[in-house]
Amino acid sequence: MSDNPTPHQLVDTVIAAAVQAGIEENEDQNGAIQDGVGRWQSTQRDGRRSSTAAGYLGPVRGRPNLGVITDAEATEIDFVGDRAVGVQFLRHGEPQAARCRQEVILSAGSFNSPKLLLLSGIGPAADLAPLGIACREDLPVGRNLQDHLIVMLNWLTDRESMKDAWTPENLARWEEDGSGPMASNVGEGGAFIRTRSDLSAPDIQLTFCPVMLSDDFLVPPTDHAVSLGPVLLKPESRGVVSLRTSLPISKVRVRNDYLTTENDRRTMIDGVRASLEIAEQEAQEAAVLYYVDEMTQAEIAEELGRSLPTVRKRLREFLACARKALSESLPGIDLPEGDEP
Ligand SMILES: Cc1cc2nc3c(=O)[nH]c(=O)nc-3n(C[C@H](O)[C@H](O)[C@H](O)COP(=O)(O)OP(=O)(O)OC[C@H]3O[C@@H](n4cnc5c(N)ncnc54)[C@H](O)[C@@H]3O)c2cc1C
Repeated sequence: MSDNPTPHQLVDTVIAAAVQAGIEENEDQNGAIQDGVGRWQSTQRDGRRSSTAAGYLGPVRGRPNLGVITDAEATEIDFVGDRAVGVQFLRHGEPQAARCRQEVILSAGSFNSPKLLLLSGIGPAADLAPLGIACREDLPVGRNLQDHLIVMLNWLTDRESMKDAWTPENLARWEEDGSGPMASNVGEGGAFIRTRSDLSAPDIQLTFCPVMLSDDFLVPPTDHAVSLGPVLLKPESRGVVSLRTSLPISKVRVRNDYLTTENDRRTMIDGVRASLEIAEQEAQEAAVLYYVDEMTQAEIAEELGRSLPTVRKRLREFLACARKALSESLPGIDLPEGDEP
């Protein structure tokens, strides 16, 4: 874990506002106490992502008892009786197999780990039968998907954000000494809070980013903005990962079923409310120009250079989640007639 070599000032502004809103400062949220607000560390070394492969595998690549096969996709786990003894895999389109002497460790991520089990006949028998997969063990594989939903709220600002950070100069700086905006993990700071006093641990994480993040982070920022994203840390809602077909090349079907419990909805609304409180603090005033409810939808669309339907869709998603809390604390932001989600 490393500190950010070039912290962005906009994040310091939000941290100061969070302290004004009553959240205690915490210099090390990876320490004994997670509650509080501060800058975050990231999984980096010298300004570069230190992935599991870079941090752990790279240093021991020369060991004679280690073999790494890349460009390979496991397609099925092989069994002898009840014992996993190897995997089938495709490499450059060619089917191959690997055998183990001790054990097979399956760690293909949240979607592909259940996928491999299902393809190997370990899963709900009723789901596997229509796909023609013989059921080896009737187990609820893929039925416990948990995802920590984030609702990204953006405030436009007249300060310099990271919107224009992708420049040849910044790239050269990062390549030279791993510093500058290109070394940022974007979520540079934030807070862990409890929405109820009887909780044994924080249930909301507030992520502070010095850049506009919208449309599920899939589009570039259109304006300078700072974003706060409440994250549901302990979702009760459960989703499903299932097979579309019995072909290993098919992507799995993912149904998240977000916010399907009352407690998840209440907690997320409290997280949105906490973000709004931070944005209203004095420390923010210099940085924040306006946020969505102070503008008409047409003004927002014009400001962001976006079409009105896109802006309406985003507002509907946001308001569907936060309507109750917001209408209590910030009157007058109801959607226009006929624009219900
Ligand atoms: C946008 C985003 C932001 C996140 N931010 C944070 C954060 O700030 N802090 C944090 O702690 N966590 C964060 N996470 C979560 C974190 O990345 C995951 O919890 C972690 O990576 C899970 O590790 P894993 O080894 O189980 O799976 P993964 O990292 O998903 O690794 C699975 C690997 O298996 C490989 N694989 C998959 N299928 C096959 C196959 N059939 N054959 C061969 N190989 C296969 C994949 O290519 C991949 O390399 C974030 C995740 C996302 C998506």
